Amino acid sequence: MLKKQDQPRPVEIKSRKEQDLMRAAGKIVAEILSDLQERARPGVNTLELDTRARQILSKYGATSPFLGYPNAHPRGPKFPASICASVNEEIVHGIPRKKRVLREGDLLKIDVGADYAGYIGDSAWTFAIGNVGPKAQDLMRVTEESLRVGIEKAVAGGRLWDMIAPIQMCVETHGFNVVREYQGHGVGRDMHEEPSIPNFLDDEFDKRPSNIQFKPGMTFAIEPMVVTGTWETRVLGDQWTVITADHGLAAHYEHTVLVTENGPEILTAWK
Ligand code: MG
Ligand code: MG
Repeated sequence: MLKKQDQPRPVEIKSRKEQDLMRAAGKIVAEILSDLQERARPGVNTLELDTRARQILSKYGATSPFLGYPNAHPRGPKFPASICASVNEEIVHGIPRKKRVLREGDLLKIDVGADYAGYIGDSAWTFAIGNVGPKAQDLMRVTEESLRVGIEKAVAGGRLWDMIAPIQMCVETHGFNVVREYQGHGVGRDMHEEPSIPNFLDDEFDKRPSNIQFKPGMTFAIEPMVVTGTWETRVLGDQWTVITADHGLAAHYEHTVLVTENGPEILTAWK
């Protein structure tokens, strides 16, 4: 959920010990998402989900890297919650609220981060609240599939553009669009490390991210955000919640992935 920026720093290679800590952080994130999936039902409000996430984090002595995250605007409010809960046309960064009661047919995106012993796991999933329509089901299926094809490319010797292109292709061949103003990222000691991982490749080569080569020990948060209509976004008056400009539906799936000698390892796997 990183806003586009261009200040390239080197891509960090995590040591064995750091990889173990990231595995531990990833497991906590996975437990939270699995738990919240069971609780996300009609009549439940999104603040209840945030409270539950906070309980699980504290059980492990972990904290949320989202809580207190600085706003894009210097004088804007810091993020006030431990998870992001975004409903329907909300794409990312939705603030959990008591008044946001889930209703039958809602499409809920939950984004969870855990900071454990200084290392971060980051994952998001989309949940159908009760029965959702066929278009929402299709959007969920395609977005999850686009994450899967991206993860498959997180291999030693692979390159960034070869991960991005299949994500975009998967989404666009099904008639949907990838959000362009927010993107995936390296992750580790910081929630947002190099490289930036957009979910599209610009036609102009010089506007694309550096086509870095992957090495074992790199850790990425791969996170396609996919919409039924325009990829253009707006930010609500709370200065956090990002919505589709045309109020079309949005889905979001994200895993933290480690590049190993033996292929990608999903550190936040739970299903
Ligand atoms: Mg992320
Ligand atoms: Mg996330």
